[in-house]
Amino acid sequence: MLAVITRFLTILAVAIVFAWLANGFWGQYAAFVAGLTVLSVPLIYAYFNLARLQKFILLNRVEALPAASGLWGEVFSRLERLVRNMKGQVRNIEKQHERFIQAFQASPNGIIMLDDQDQIEWCNSIAEYFFGLNFKSDALQKVNYLIRRPEFIRYLNDRLFDEPLLIEQMGPSANLSLMLQAFPFAENRRLLLVQDVTDLRKAEAMRRDFVANVSHEMRTPLTVMMGFLETVQTLDLEEPQKEQYLEMMMTQARRMKNLVEDLLTLANLEANTLPASNQKVQMSTIFALLKNDAEALSQSKHSLNFHADDQVNILGDERELLSAFGNLVSNAVRYTPESGKIDVSWSVTEHGQGVFSVSDSGPGIPPEHLPRLTERFYRVDRSRSRETGGTGLGLAIVKHIANRHQAQLLIESLSGSGSTFKLVFPADRLTSS
Ligand code: ADP
Repeated sequence: MLAVITRFLTILAVAIVFAWLANGFWGQYAAFVAGLTVLSVPLIYAYFNLARLQKFILLNRVEALPAASGLWGEVFSRLERLVRNMKGQVRNIEKQHERFIQAFQASPNGIIMLDDQDQIEWCNSIAEYFFGLNFKSDALQKVNYLIRRPEFIRYLNDRLFDEPLLIEQMGPSANLSLMLQAFPFAENRRLLLVQDVTDLRKAEAMRRDFVANVSHEMRTPLTVMMGFLETVQTLDLEEPQKEQYLEMMMTQARRMKNLVEDLLTLANLEANTLPASNQKVQMSTIFALLKNDAEALSQSKHSLNFHADDQVNILGDERELLSAFGNLVSNAVRYTPESGKIDVSWSVTEHGQGVFSVSDSGPGIPPEHLPRLTERFYRVDRSRSRETGGTGLGLAIVKHIANRHQAQLLIESLSGSGSTFKLVFPADRLTSS
C-alpha cells in the first residue's frame, strides 16, 4: 500500500515539476499540457496491463502472465504465484479423489453412495455388475427405481440398517446371492456395501446336505441292526438262525465302520491343504498289494490282469496313493458282473506323464452321471453300491488324492460298454527305477 502511495506521490511531483518548468518557459497552457502528459503515461501503462490481465484471465492462463515493470510487475508475479499454487492444490485434490475412486473400484465388494433422497451419487463397477446399473446414465436416479426387489425397498424404507440384507438370485444370470448393508454417513447420506456370498451360501448348503447324507447313511444300517437285535431278543431262535442274524448284524456294523473310515479319510484329506509328500512310491509293491486285494474281493469271479512299468515310480504319499488306486480297483471288481474282465496298468506316455488305468467290462456309466461322480455320496447304481459295501465316498477320496498329487482323474465310460478310470500324473511326480 505504502509503495503505491509513494509511487503516486512521485508521479504527482514529477508532473508538478514539469508543469512548473513549462509554465516558466512557455506559459500556462504549456504547463497544463506538460502536467497532463506526465500523468497520462502511467495511466496508459495501467490500461495496457489491465488489458493483458483480462486477456490472460479469459484464457485461464494467469500463471503465464508476461513480465511487466514496476508495481505491475510485482502484481503480475504475485498473481501468477497465487494461481499456480491454487492450481497445484486443485490438481493434488483431484489426484487424491482419483485414488479414492480407484481404491473403491478395486474393492471386490459393490459400493453405492446415496444422497439424502436415496439417489445414486456414485457406484463402482462391481455394483453395476451386481444390479445391472450403469453409473453414467443412472447417476442421480432413485436407487429403488433401479433395484426393484421388494425386500430391498422395504429395507431402505424401514431404515433398520443394523442388520444386513440377503438378496438371492441377483446378477446378470440371476445366480448370485448378495449380502447388502447400508451405512449412514455425512448429511443423511448412505453407503451401500454389497458382498457376493454365493460361494459361502453354496458351502453352507453343501454342509447341510452332507450332514443330512451322513445321518441318512448311518441311520439305515442302524435301523436294520436294531431290527435284528429286537428279533434276537424277543424270539427264541435256533442256534443256526441266531448265527445268521449275528452275521447280518456284522455286515451292517462293517458298513458303518467303512463309512466312518471313509469320512475320516476325507476329513483328513480336506484338512491337509499342503501338497502330498515327495517320497518314492515303488509301483511294484503297490501293484502286488492291489492284486492281492482285488483277488480277495473278486473271489476268482473275474479275469484280472495287472501290468506295470516298474521302471517308473511315483513321488508322493504311499498310503494315499494306495487308497486312491485301491478305490478304483475295488469299484471295478464290485461293479463288474461275474466273468467280466478287469485290466489294471501303469505306464508312461510319450509326453512323460504317468498313467494309472483301471478298465472293466462292467455296466458302464451313462454320460450324464460322469460330471457328478466325484461328489460325496453320489451314486449311479445305489443298490449295487450298498450291496457291495460301497459308501459313496470312494471317488471323492480319489479326486482329493489326485489333486494333492497334481494328478488328473479322467473317466471314460458309456452305458453298457464298461468303464476306464485313469489317474494321470505330471512328469515331475515321476522318478525312474
Ligand atoms: P461307491 O462306494 O458307491 O462305489 P464311489 O464314489 O466309489 O462310491 O463311486 C460312485 C458311483 O460311481 C458308484 O456308486 C457307482 O454307481 C459308480 N461307479 C464307480 N465306479 C464304477 C465302475 N467301475 N463301473 C460302474 N459304475 C461305477
